[in-house]
Amino acid sequence: MTRDIKKIIKQMTLEEKAGLCSGLDAWCTKPVERLGIPSIMMTDGPHGLRKQREDADMVDINNSIPATCFPSAAGLACSWDRELLEKVGVALGEECQAQNVSILLGPGANIKRSPLCGRNFEYFSEDPYLSSEMASSHIKGVQSQGVGTSLKHFAANNQEHRRMTVNAVVDERTLREIYFASFENAVKKAQPWMVMCAYNKLNGEYCSENRYLLTDIIKNEWMHEGFVVSDWGAVNDRVKGLDAGLELEMPSSFGITDRKIVEAVRSGKLSENILDRAVERILKVIFKAIDNKKENADYDKDAHHRLARKVAGESMVLLKNEDNTLPLKKKGTIALIGAFVKNPRYQGAGSSHITPTRLDDIYEEIKKTGGDGTSIIYSEGYRLGNDDIDEGLINEAKKAASGSDVAVIFAGLPDEYESEGFDRTHMDMPKNQNRLIEAVAEVQTNTVVVLLNGSPIEMPWVDKVKAILEAYLGGQALGGALADILFGEVNPSGKLAETFPIKLSHNPSYLNFPGEDDRVEYKENIFVGYRYYDTKGIEPLFPFGHGLSYTQFEYSEISVDKKDVSDNNVINVSVKVKNTGEVAGKEVVQLYVKDVKSSVLRPEKELKGFQKIFLNPGEEKIVTFTLDKRAFAYYNTQIKDWHVESGEFLILIGKSSRDIVLKESVRVNSTVKLRKRFTDSSTVEDVMADPSAAVIFSPILKGITDTLGIDMNNTHDMMVANVKATPLRALPNSSQGRLSEEMLDELLNKINGID
Ligand code: BGC
Repeated sequence: MTRDIKKIIKQMTLEEKAGLCSGLDAWCTKPVERLGIPSIMMTDGPHGLRKQREDADMVDINNSIPATCFPSAAGLACSWDRELLEKVGVALGEECQAQNVSILLGPGANIKRSPLCGRNFEYFSEDPYLSSEMASSHIKGVQSQGVGTSLKHFAANNQEHRRMTVNAVVDERTLREIYFASFENAVKKAQPWMVMCAYNKLNGEYCSENRYLLTDIIKNEWMHEGFVVSDWGAVNDRVKGLDAGLELEMPSSFGITDRKIVEAVRSGKLSENILDRAVERILKVIFKAIDNKKENADYDKDAHHRLARKVAGESMVLLKNEDNTLPLKKKGTIALIGAFVKNPRYQGAGSSHITPTRLDDIYEEIKKTGGDGTSIIYSEGYRLGNDDIDEGLINEAKKAASGSDVAVIFAGLPDEYESEGFDRTHMDMPKNQNRLIEAVAEVQTNTVVVLLNGSPIEMPWVDKVKAILEAYLGGQALGGALADILFGEVNPSGKLAETFPIKLSHNPSYLNFPGEDDRVEYKENIFVGYRYYDTKGIEPLFPFGHGLSYTQFEYSEISVDKKDVSDNNVINVSVKVKNTGEVAGKEVVQLYVKDVKSSVLRPEKELKGFQKIFLNPGEEKIVTFTLDKRAFAYYNTQIKDWHVESGEFLILIGKSSRDIVLKESVRVNSTVKLRKRFTDSSTVEDVMADPSAAVIFSPILKGITDTLGIDMNNTHDMMVANVKATPLRALPNSSQGRLSEEMLDELLNKINGID
């Protein structure tokens, strides 16, 4: 239906317009009935619907109507599967339609800066390209159902500690290359109806009133068509926020900030045009939601549960599998050990907590899939709720394990270890679980560990067990999916979307997380995750992109369609992948780019492409990638743009960031010439490094060095080093008058291109 939104705005009173800029209650916008403006509802998010029951108040976060609980983002991202994420989005959109929810509060695209962030389970990756690709697919899926999304939390909300007041201090290049990049394509390509601003400050200014973020970046550069909503309670100065580009405040301020907006317009502090523009953006989304509302919508709970099972299976990462211990044979005795078997951790705590439509029983699912040939025994191993080592339980577990053909231990992080609202302070698993694994592995050589956790842990027992399966927080169909993977009904194909360091102190943010008082400095800059480990040569426990399969893949025939291009062109890369094993499987083909030589600090390699493919045994496929300027560029803060430094780049094809199997070299030439502006503080070396400036300066320099008796070709001479390091302003004196101050001014004008 077409409406004249501008006309509606003209008919609205100042109070009505101000009122539309904050919620009616915790989840809805305010209606203006006399003008036919309805109220729409938005709820969490991101991997399931948390629509609170009518009798629940806002803090009663677990009191929500049943919805399908899909694996949380940490797991979803390990699928590296755009189509799958879109399917999850479609299912989420259907559930929203069925429950009259117009906007889902997600996905979350914050970067995993530290493994300690309590909310990492809700975020996709340490890599911005992977993260924004996953977020885009999620958004596209949900929005294909006529339901909006709210990409969150923009920006630099990478910890829970003091999240409502902390000031994240991040330099511009790092923001652009890492923290913004994770949102950028999701906004540009998928156009979420809303973007949610973060609680924290960025470089001294609250995100909720940060014009640079909310207007310059989101609206002007990324051309966001929807509007910005505050994280719940993130507003500091409402009028300043509105002026900076924050359209909707949530939840309701019970009229307090509406009055402030009205007063500001009346007093002339805030232009009414700005309010009108905010109202226009909000109304467009409200009417879009209403026009796309499906009457009597419903969804198929069984089908969504089946999808949740498929997705969980595709997201699990087989970290280790010595002697092909997995898949399990469907015969003999299997000991299932650990309290998580009966009481699994399948989702995280906080605003994303779902009341599932049903929950698989791990024990029953394994028993069912194992069939008549297997006998399953269970042993608790540890108690949930405290970390105390219970030797009695451990002895029972040892007995169960030694009397079985294989022991499968379920371990990981209990709820009290990670949640929205607080960060971890270490990467340890509970000590009773670590002790259990060591004890069982001593008596049973075939020990498998299944991990249920939202983020990396240290594994002191890693060499003592045969196989490790990282299941993350697998959602309500975790049990079925685990049975599928453990018995080989589904071949694991997940790859880590984050690095597992050997120990916490190896992490680049270690000395600067979570900061001091209300200040956290991102001193590691762009060196987040594998960008740091690879550049520093630090061996991780399991690298970014790692994940095993029950089959093998062979890579060959990398080729590029151009070896020498300018940066406004694209390069097409292709590579052949063959399944050389016995079973069908999926492989994630990863493409990284390395700048061979650069005048700015760059990571050893960066992910610039990936494709997930399915191959039957013996089958081969050609996988193709298209690389444009961004694949080779870094963000140049001088020209405030992405810039490619002309030269050689390596295109690396890998099974993980550390397992590069093929490479090809290309040359990319910049079409932009960076012009340096020289000042009297520029050094002799700076000027000589610029070929066009050097032509002018060389004879002058030679005159000076000849006078001083210095041979500039003698590169190991201290005097030569001194001359190179000399700022131009010191030359009149040190040249003993050969270069006067007037001549220096003339020189500067010439080398800066001014006549
Ligand atoms: C969280 C958001 C969430 C909102 C509404 C906030 O505390 O940070 O992610 O969408 O609450 O529940």
